[in-house]
Amino acid sequence: MDANLEAPENRVLVLAPTGRDALLACDLLSQSGLESFACADEAELCQAIEEGAAVAVLAEEALHPWTVHALLGALSRQGPWSDLPLIVFTLGERSSEAVLETLGPLGNATILERPVRVSTLVSAVKAGMRARHRQYEVRDLLRRQADADRRKDEFLAMLGHELRNPLAAIRNAIWILEEAGSEDYQDVRQREVIERQTHHLVRMVDDLLDVSRVTLGKIGLHVQTVDLQSVTERCLNELGMKRLAESHELALTVETGPVLVQGDPVRLEQVVCNLLHNAVKYTPRGGEIDVRVGPEDGEAVVRVRDNGLGISGDMLNRIFEPFTQVESSRKRSEGGLGLGLPLVRSLVELHGGTVEAKSKGHGCGSEFIVHLPRLGNAVDLPLPAIQPEPANPVEDDSPLRILVVEDNRDGRESLRDLLEIWGHEVEVAENGPDGVEHALASQPDVALIDIGLPGLDGNEVAQRIRAALDGDRMALVAMTGYGQPEDRRRALQAGFDAYLVKPVDPEELARTLRELTTGGGLAVRN
Ligand code: ADP
Repeated sequence: MDANLEAPENRVLVLAPTGRDALLACDLLSQSGLESFACADEAELCQAIEEGAAVAVLAEEALHPWTVHALLGALSRQGPWSDLPLIVFTLGERSSEAVLETLGPLGNATILERPVRVSTLVSAVKAGMRARHRQYEVRDLLRRQADADRRKDEFLAMLGHELRNPLAAIRNAIWILEEAGSEDYQDVRQREVIERQTHHLVRMVDDLLDVSRVTLGKIGLHVQTVDLQSVTERCLNELGMKRLAESHELALTVETGPVLVQGDPVRLEQVVCNLLHNAVKYTPRGGEIDVRVGPEDGEAVVRVRDNGLGISGDMLNRIFEPFTQVESSRKRSEGGLGLGLPLVRSLVELHGGTVEAKSKGHGCGSEFIVHLPRLGNAVDLPLPAIQPEPANPVEDDSPLRILVVEDNRDGRESLRDLLEIWGHEVEVAENGPDGVEHALASQPDVALIDIGLPGLDGNEVAQRIRAALDGDRMALVAMTGYGQPEDRRRALQAGFDAYLVKPVDPEELARTLRELTTGGGLAVRN
């Protein structure tokens, strides 16, 4: 406790009506080895409390209403760990009661009626100091925990980001093997295994990154008017949830009606896909999944029900906490981090909605219900048409000259192979300065540039190319693990035409190349 008596946190603050009284009290305390500090007025007292104090010794006569008011303010600004011991000298029994009443809301007050013996004062101060010392220990512990928590969140965000590079290379390699690989039964099966497992990995990394962004307060919504029916149908058809249910031999019933909400379509798709994915994961083969979407009691509601494993009552609320998995269902799971539902809840809450889970218990199936604020009357508003995807986005694209600037060797070479299989002419560079040199020397149609490059980062590479080739527009595409809106903004400002987040889906890459090099607003030279 007396490790560092000089620290402000070990000081005894004294506030008396005249300077002389305060100095006298300080003198007495210092004779007992206690460091004290005489405060001239309530402002100095409050300032000293903020800087750190063990105990405050106050004379009743100094407790004017404005002093009490200021003291209350200073104490309430302390953290929840704080309960500063106050020792008040009073004039007698009656005034003690009045003081207790005034200081009631402040809490930890000890009354000493005059005349006060020195030993009584010293023992009261020492008891207060001991209590305060414990409070500071709690404060330090809370700070260390918050710090560790923040570092853990930052670590998870960094881990997710770092995992994207290897995943990008693996994904490219799978595509190459599919286009050019052997048709041997064993080889095809092994490829399918790699593809399925990579898909799981990509999902887990995406969840990890999204949860980190939510906890670090970095997720932004691109809000527009969205029809939840279209969102759900896109999840089922284009995003593969129907296929997934079929492959698990699950019967799927879908009953949807149009219902508009204000939201980010991509994030809402993530919500519905996560719930559907779980329904598939936790329902044995031969089971049933029922999806309903529509207005209910003035809200927009999505219900995903299954007759699978179910959830016991004690787990129903906990499954929305990060890293929670029900022990019995873990055995059935194809893997997961217990982050899907926390993400669902955070995203739904960001949209001003709620999500609940219902189940009659183990073996009785589960129902997940998302409630969102409903917007206007769905039927009156025109719904955006969904463009059907071309069957093979790569077919019929004219060959391009493409420069790949990427320092990760596997990522670079697999991307080169992929682009060459598509018929493009490819050259590569491993770092920023080489990237600029190649771009200026051979002036390709498109440069695909990583952002985190040695020498010069991708944004500087883009700036230099743009500055040197003013007017002759080469299409510049950033391919990066950094997916934050501000990263995207910075890249577009640096001169990039498009921004793709790793692991880039080859179909999306093919689409971007086509959009940038043929018709449309972003057309460049052929
Ligand atoms: P993960 O599925 O990756 O474990 P989630 O956060 O998506 O993580 O789900 C947390 C837990 O909630 C799961 O581990 C599972 O125990 C339980 N759960 C989620 N959805 C269902 C469901 N439809 N049926 C039964 N249990 C479920």
